[in-house]
Amino acid sequence: MQTLTFDVAWETYLALRPRLPAVPPPVVPRRVSGVIEAAEQADVVLLDAYGVLHAGGAGFPWARTAFDELRRRGKAILLLTNDASGDKRAIAHRNASRGFAVGPDEIIAGVDLLPEALAGSDRRWGVSGSWGHPFPDLMAGMRALGDAPDPWDAVDGIVLVDTDTWTSGRQRNLARALRRRPRPLIVCNPDVACPYEGGAMSAEPGFFVHRADPPDDVMFLGKPFPGVYDRAARRFPDVPRSRFLAVGDTPHTDILGARAAGMRALMVRTGFTAGRAPEPLFEQSGLWPDFIAETL
Ligand SMILES: [Mg+2]
Repeated sequence: MQTLTFDVAWETYLALRPRLPAVPPPVVPRRVSGVIEAAEQADVVLLDAYGVLHAGGAGFPWARTAFDELRRRGKAILLLTNDASGDKRAIAHRNASRGFAVGPDEIIAGVDLLPEALAGSDRRWGVSGSWGHPFPDLMAGMRALGDAPDPWDAVDGIVLVDTDTWTSGRQRNLARALRRRPRPLIVCNPDVACPYEGGAMSAEPGFFVHRADPPDDVMFLGKPFPGVYDRAARRFPDVPRSRFLAVGDTPHTDILGARAAGMRALMVRTGFTAGRAPEPLFEQSGLWPDFIAETL
């Protein structure tokens, strides 16, 4: 796993901004005690996982309390994750073992949009990822892309599922393939960094793709792009978007995505921005959440 410092991750998010949804108008964040207070005016709560519910290990105890209280109050809950594994049962199981009981049908991930993104395409696609096959039927005809350069040159489109097993060789192959012959690139997780216990951050697909000088029309699936929010909204057609509250720890994914989609955003100070004053980050990025709380 390649790790990043906060500063490198933050600079990369700022540099990626031309590729991200337009920045919504600023708001003055209201300080709240947590999701329970912020959700008073919400019917549906979209929860980010890493940095909000846990940091790769056990569930945060305060998050388990808040989660149970949301359930008790009858709020609809969806886990909105950029986890690209595609295996909803496994994601549900991992979260249940941390104290957050969600069903597979309560999880929306960017990778869910991949079949739609590929529909009708007869290109020769290649795929790189550690999981490899979130959609076995869809990917059966795709060429596996790894450390050997030739397959990257041979395909007419590249699907990047995740970078959990990324190497410097794959980075070279991706950059070279895009330089030699521009071609469609679909990235199933736009995150630049993911926070872990002890303050470490892993580099994620958004980081590697940015460094490979991708084409202007690179397609990112997942937060902050609108597709996953549209899916969440379609699940509750009678609920106006203003009554969706999205909770997250990362301004350029969770906050930007929710607000650009017309939903309200709560930023918690665990995870990505832990230990940092939030206002300078809001000023620099132009991204302001509706609510801010120390923890979920
Ligand atoms: Mg997060």
